[in-house]
Amino acid sequence: MRLSLSADEAPHLPNFAVSELRSSLLTWYAQLGRDLPWRRTRDPYAIWISEIMLQQTQVKTVIPYFERWMTLFPTVDALAKADLQAVLKAWEGLGYYARARNLHRAAQTIVEQHHGLFPQELDAVLALPGIGRTTAGGILSAAFNQPLAILDGNVKRVLARLMALDVPPNRALSALWHWSEAMLDPARSHEFNQAFMDLGATICTPKKPACLLCPWQRHCRAYNLGTQSELPMSEPRAPLLHKIIGVAVIWNDRNQILIDRRKPEGLLGGLWEFPGGKVEPGETIEACIKREIQEELGIEIEVGDRLTVVDHTYSHFRVTLNVHHCQHLSGDPQPIECDEIRWVMARELDQYPFPKANIHIIEALQKSAV
Ligand code: SF4
Repeated sequence: MRLSLSADEAPHLPNFAVSELRSSLLTWYAQLGRDLPWRRTRDPYAIWISEIMLQQTQVKTVIPYFERWMTLFPTVDALAKADLQAVLKAWEGLGYYARARNLHRAAQTIVEQHHGLFPQELDAVLALPGIGRTTAGGILSAAFNQPLAILDGNVKRVLARLMALDVPPNRALSALWHWSEAMLDPARSHEFNQAFMDLGATICTPKKPACLLCPWQRHCRAYNLGTQSELPMSEPRAPLLHKIIGVAVIWNDRNQILIDRRKPEGLLGGLWEFPGGKVEPGETIEACIKREIQEELGIEIEVGDRLTVVDHTYSHFRVTLNVHHCQHLSGDPQPIECDEIRWVMARELDQYPFPKANIHIIEALQKSAV
């Protein structure tokens, strides 16, 4: 395998091919492009929200979140003024919560520095939290038809096949940007970038690309070499780290449950959760829960029956949550390792934003109460 490919080494795209690629893609898009809620507007705020939600998340998952979000926070100003907890609640289940925190902070920046109007200058957009080059290009091309290229996962995959890229895409980013920019139709960047993403999402899919339906088949190097199923090349993956976690659903005498809010920084920052922690080597789940609760909240509990076991995979590790009912015995809980703690009734849990793995615990609680 070649180690990397720079823009200078990138094979050249002949002019006739570029013009055919542009026109065939735009013709295909006019007939078969997807009708998506954020494509019915040129409002940069709505397009920005959709671009951020679509990072790491599929279109069909995003649509209901997007529609609810635009009802809850219809403008930059509404988002800037919203409480962070309400923003996280609206994001609950989408994962990668830094995206929601960055949206909230960026909306406040737009209000403070740009009079509440989404900026149109690339540098100003790139200065907002959570917006990189491809997201900025996506927003500015879709909202203002600015001739800026994009390079999201779909576009990387299509380009890797079209050009028969012989290194993993992340080792050829400058070459990929070079191709994406060379291919962009500068007069119709608004449609072109959307069409490019649609081609990757619906035809040039990760598995079994539908080459016979593809408007770029004639120029596609991978198709002509018969290597489309082997591309893009992937990096060898290290096995995911697996963490075993003990989790406590702690009840008091008033039938309330103890929940805590994570610190604002880092993974799942600002979300609520059931307390617990990592099992040490040689430790039982019950001993781990007792120790973690003493260390994190400064209280004594009795660990009771198992409620459920939840497996969840994050981008760089996976967890198994071993969840037990527990009874509060003594001590006033203190937020030693978290930002805030609350005793709440089980029926009140859905008012708080929880990460997905904890939502499975809430569902198990609801089932066990039936
Ligand atoms: S011909 Fe096949 S591999 Fe090539 S761009 Fe089209 S769908 Fe992708």
